[in-house]
Amino acid sequence: MLKSGATIGILGGGQLGRMLALAAANLGYRTHIYSPEENSCAFDVAHVITKAPYEDEKALAEFAQVVDVITYEFENVPAATATFLAARKQVLPDPRVLEATQDRLIEKDFVKGLKIPTAPYAPVHSATQLAEGIEKVGLPAVLKTRTLGYDGKGQAKIAKAADAIDAWRSVKNAPCILEGFVKFQREVSVVAARDKAGKVVCFDITENQHRDHILKVSRVPARVPPSTEREARRIATKIADALDYVGVLAVEMFAVKRGRATELLVNEIAPRVHNSGHWTIDGATVSQFEQHIRAIAGLPLGKPLRLGRVEMINLIGAEIEEATRWMKVPGASVHVYGKKEARPGRKMGHVTRVRPQR
Ligand code: AMP
Repeated sequence: MLKSGATIGILGGGQLGRMLALAAANLGYRTHIYSPEENSCAFDVAHVITKAPYEDEKALAEFAQVVDVITYEFENVPAATATFLAARKQVLPDPRVLEATQDRLIEKDFVKGLKIPTAPYAPVHSATQLAEGIEKVGLPAVLKTRTLGYDGKGQAKIAKAADAIDAWRSVKNAPCILEGFVKFQREVSVVAARDKAGKVVCFDITENQHRDHILKVSRVPARVPPSTEREARRIATKIADALDYVGVLAVEMFAVKRGRATELLVNEIAPRVHNSGHWTIDGATVSQFEQHIRAIAGLPLGKPLRLGRVEMINLIGAEIEEATRWMKVPGASVHVYGKKEARPGRKMGHVTRVRPQR
C-alpha cells in the first residue's frame, strides 16, 4: 500500500491528469506531472512538474527516481517511454496494456479473441486491400487509422464504393482498419476499476451522445434493459481480467437492436479514466479518479453508489463562456479545466447535473 504523502507520477498533463491529481490529493498523496506541453492544465494542481519530451531519457530517469509509482492519463504514451520507465519504477496499468490498445487492429483482434462481439472489420494497408475489405465488411463502412486517432480524427466514412479512393487518400495511405458502419440504437460505456488482487468494480453503464465525433453528453442510467447492463459489466470485467489490469479503464460499446434483444459490440478500450466517467465526481460516492488512485495505490476499491439521475455535459471550445450561466442552474456542478485557449473542439470544462431519484 502506498503510504500517505507518497508521490504518484502521472504521464500526461491534460484534464484527466488534473482530475487524477485532485483525487490523489484528497487521499493524502502528492502528484508529479510529466508532460511535454507548455501550458498543461494538470501542472496547476500538482506538487512537482516536469516539462520535457517523452523521448528525454535524462528527464524520464529523474522522474522515475523521485516518484513512488507511475501511471498515465492517455494511451498514446510512446512504447519506448513506458518500457524505459517500467525498468526503473512500477508503471500501472502495466505498459503491455498500451500495446493492446494503441493499435485499433490489435485491439479488435484481442477483443475478438475473447469472443466478445465487435463491428465486422478488416485490415487495410493498400488500395487493393481496401477493395477486399469493402467486400468483406460491406458498405457503409468507416476507415480508421490503426494508431493515433481520437475524437473522429484519422477517420473517413465510406458510403459508396466510389468514395473509397478519397477515403484512402484522406488517411494519407496510413495503415488502417475498415469497420462496417454500425446502425446502433445508442452508444454506451462501462468504466471499471480493477485492483491488484483482481477484484473488479464497475460504475453504472453510461449512455453517450456525440457531436462532431466528440462526446457531448453522458447520461446515467443508460436506457438499456437490466440484462444489457449485466452484459456490459461482464464484457468490461472480462477485458480487465484478460489484461491483468490495475486501475480504471473504459470500454465503449454500440448497443444494437436485434429483434427484441439488444446486442453490445465493443468499439474501443480506453486504458485510463474516461470522459464518460466524469459524472462520477458529483454523481457517485466515489469518483473514477479516486478509484484509479485507490487501485494503483493498493487501497481498497470503493463500492460507488449513484446519487440520482445524472447528466454530464462537456463544455467544448467557446462553450466554456457558458460556465457562469451553468453555475446558476439548480443542481449543477461546474468544472473548468483552466486551459488557456478555447480552440474549437477542445474540451474546456464540464457540467454535471444530479437529480435525486425517489
Ligand atoms: P472512435 O474514435 O472509434 O471512438 O469513434 C468515434 C465515434 O465515431 C464513435 O463514438 C461513433 O459515434 C462513431 N463510430 C466509430 N466507429 C463506428 C462504426 N463502426 N459504426 C458507426 N459509428 C462509428
